[in-house]
Amino acid sequence: MKILIVGGAGYIGSHMVKQLAKAGNDVITLDNLSYGYRDAVKYGEFVEGDLGDNEVLDAIFQPGDIDAVMHFAGFIQVGESVTNPSMYYLNNVVNTHTLLDAMLRHNIKNFIFSSTAAIFGEPEYTPIDEKHQKQPINPYGHSKLMIEQILDDYDTAYGLRSTCLRYFNAAGADPDGELGERHVPETHLIPLILQAASGRRADIKIFGDDYPTQDGTCVRDYIHINDLCEAHSLALHRMIEKDQSARYNLGNGKGFSVTEVIDIAKEVSGNDFKVTIEPRRDGDPAVLVADASLAKQELNWQPEFAELKDIVKTAWDWEINFLSKQ
Ligand code: UDP
Repeated sequence: MKILIVGGAGYIGSHMVKQLAKAGNDVITLDNLSYGYRDAVKYGEFVEGDLGDNEVLDAIFQPGDIDAVMHFAGFIQVGESVTNPSMYYLNNVVNTHTLLDAMLRHNIKNFIFSSTAAIFGEPEYTPIDEKHQKQPINPYGHSKLMIEQILDDYDTAYGLRSTCLRYFNAAGADPDGELGERHVPETHLIPLILQAASGRRADIKIFGDDYPTQDGTCVRDYIHINDLCEAHSLALHRMIEKDQSARYNLGNGKGFSVTEVIDIAKEVSGNDFKVTIEPRRDGDPAVLVADASLAKQELNWQPEFAELKDIVKTAWDWEINFLSKQ
């Protein structure tokens, strides 16, 4: 297949490009490099440009040989979405709408969308399945849910098939050591802990130890980046085969508290580091764990990295072999 990866220079997109290319697909990356890295696109063709730019999109779609589009080019910082919602509605909603309409103009009708656990808002129960009510509590979550709603309507009206994958906590790095997480600024727990473990950061701050969880710190469901990408590939094949849209929650179904993640990182790295307790971060639910039974059933998806220790190990290798050397 020929697949356009929008945001293929970012963390998840770059791993997806590699996986699809290795499986024999023809891949094109479109990325404006606002957050991505040109050198993270190691396979296929690269186009520098914006997903909101019709001229760029028409030029890519014109030859008429693209089978599917995967979209990873969303802004992802919850806090920033609260202080600057305009930025989030412009990129995550308006630009995605532009991309979808460009696909329709060129009769491309298969779309895989990076969605998020944030569309569910404060959990009413855990683990969270696809039926859980969707009430985001921040503009980031709203922007992703809006696209899911647009996609429902585009399926009905235009036959544009979509699969929305709601990620819980994507983590880890390419086990070959070629790719990994490189966010600037970094806000995610595991890379920040590993910066402390390698000595690039003075300490790790725990945002709140008074949550209603076993040790008072927030519980999250960490899923390895390769397992996440594998679910995209399986979802794409099923969507095309069945000519049907779908929505799946993706996680390992197992929760780890911030303290547990820190302990695992100490074990994996063999290094001790300072841990400090800070006030809660706004908008953090106490527990977010996925019920991914539907993806397992329908896609026959089986995560390979079921152990958090193994996920953290790939991220640690990336931290010491790549990030620490920059
Ligand atoms: N967290 C923390 N210290 C940090 C970064 C994150 O205690 O320096 C906590 C955060 O409050 C949340 C969990 O770690 O409970 C995972 O946060 P992350 O930003 O990695 O992912 P999120 O769950 O927000 O998508």
